[in-house]
Amino acid sequence: MIHLRGLSFEEYISQQKLEQAIDSVAKQINADFAGKEPLFIVVLNGAYKFATELLSRFEGDCEIEFLKLSSYDGTASTGEVITHIPLDVDLEDRDVIVVEDIVDSGNTLEKITDMLVSGGVGKFRIASLFFKPGSYTKEYKIHYVGLEIPNDFIVGYGLDYNGLGRNLNAIYKLKTTKMTNLVLFGPPGAGKGTQAS
Ligand code: 5GP
Ligand code: MG
Ligand code: MG
Repeated sequence: MIHLRGLSFEEYISQQKLEQAIDSVAKQINADFAGKEPLFIVVLNGAYKFATELLSRFEGDCEIEFLKLSSYDGTASTGEVITHIPLDVDLEDRDVIVVEDIVDSGNTLEKITDMLVSGGVGKFRIASLFFKPGSYTKEYKIHYVGLEIPNDFIVGYGLDYNGLGRNLNAIYKLKTTKMTNLVLFGPPGAGKGTQAS
């Protein structure tokens, strides 16, 4: 059990299990992009660790670019996604693989998809370490998923709670009690840790 900013989290997914999931995603991407020269677009901050691990397993030549997004802060999801660092690359006809930490509502994914399509991208694929099918509200296909998880709030392996926990090598999930629900969803701004990046 660990504590971050007053909340308790229990170990949920081991580093070994995460690495196995990444091995499997890497294998699929290596097969699908053999002989291609894809552009990986890493969505900061949360995907940095997944991207490092995934890209070290990629066997071909590739380019890597970064984009920083976050959901609008609020106690309920407003669906607004803010761009903090825009993409700075020509997307025209490129084969792109978007690298995400987790797909939850899908609002971030929608924003990214719009960005890629308006940039004239060629073939594009989405790789996400985690997917929460229970809260997904969109219909975009997520081509490569590391692990599907229930609607728990998780931290570690790049994912944070109010800025902390990204450096943890395993995934921890919030221990839900009435108190923590109050802290997470009660006071204005307290839901910050559930937002993007
Ligand atoms: P979306 O709702 O747009 O699909 O998810 C956007 C972002 O919310 C994710 O990229 C991630 O940064 C954040 N997020 C969603 N679920 C969780 C979670 O369980 N833990 C953490 N730390 N962030 C999450
Ligand atoms: Mg976050
Ligand atoms: Mg993300």
